Amino acid sequence: MTTSPDTVHGADATTDPAPLTADPAAARTRIRPARPDFEEEKTSNFQRFLVGLFVAIPLVALVAAIPLLWGWGLGWHDVVIALVFYWVSGLGITVGYHRYFTHGSFKAKKGLRVALAIAGSLAIEGPVITWVSDHRRHHKYSDREGDPHSPWRYGDDWKALSKGLVYAHIGWLFDPNKTSQEKFSPDLLADRKIASVDAWFPGYVAVTLLLPALIGGLWGMSIHGALTAFFWASLVRVALLHHVTWAINSICHTFGAEEFEVRDKSKNVAWMAIASFGESWHNLHHADPTCARHGALKGQLDPSARVIWAFEKLGWAYDVRWPDEERLTAKRPAAAKRKLGAWTRLAARGRSAATAESR
Ligand SMILES: [Zn+2]
Ligand SMILES: [Zn+2]
Repeated sequence: MTTSPDTVHGADATTDPAPLTADPAAARTRIRPARPDFEEEKTSNFQRFLVGLFVAIPLVALVAAIPLLWGWGLGWHDVVIALVFYWVSGLGITVGYHRYFTHGSFKAKKGLRVALAIAGSLAIEGPVITWVSDHRRHHKYSDREGDPHSPWRYGDDWKALSKGLVYAHIGWLFDPNKTSQEKFSPDLLADRKIASVDAWFPGYVAVTLLLPALIGGLWGMSIHGALTAFFWASLVRVALLHHVTWAINSICHTFGAEEFEVRDKSKNVAWMAIASFGESWHNLHHADPTCARHGALKGQLDPSARVIWAFEKLGWAYDVRWPDEERLTAKRPAAAKRKLGAWTRLAARGRSAATAESR
């Protein structure tokens, strides 16, 4: 235990939204920081089982199918097309929908702004304004009443948590309560180009499903090539990306490392870093939501940050909010051992150089 509840919740405790339960005893437990008194050691096997249920088992089944299908139901064409579409639509979500549109962690030139909205639409996770509104609401209420997808909504015993994990992962999508776009995304509603990408969402769904099939068909000059590309690069790719994105809501709010002080239960999850393009450093993200790099500690891979860096070099992105050493250090628990990554130091150095030049 490195922080007391007071240091984490002290200042804003009175203005925080109500915790996710009517039971005052449970509520007291819930609003404590992420490593509460009831360490869930006893349910650790069960926790592992749940993680397996959500991510590992379907993945293992998929991987097991690959050698069986290789050569007739799956070929390297399909793999290449699937990877490219996973990459474009995935980064559309992480760099576009999330870091840019939701949190404004950098500014983008017009062309890039529209391209990011389109790339994110290709992930079939909803139109950009809906996604951004839900996610801004998630940050406003994270793990409290009003959060659209908290795994802690039913309580923190293993039964309630397993139900909550299913809800955070997928169940929330079926919840009838809609996030107000007027309240959460007036900036995007006012932008005609973005509103038009939003309205064309069904068209982008058709594109993201049919384009891989078209490419696969032309590449192999066969209907068979179109069908296998459709299966792997459209269906499997979209399903995989959905699970990875949802796992940020479920797994990264439940299991993992707390390396920064936050008032919710967000965690850093190393093994998901590559598949999620760096989004699984979710504890840092909740500690400093507008930061363009989520893997800010030493050795934490963050492919999305690398892409933002490339956009910045190309001159398409500017005013990037790179990790700020001072701000992040203030949010680290006293006993934290892992150092901040080189990116942070570089950003700080770049800033002091810039300040020196402007003098
Ligand atoms: Zn979150
Ligand atoms: Zn966020």
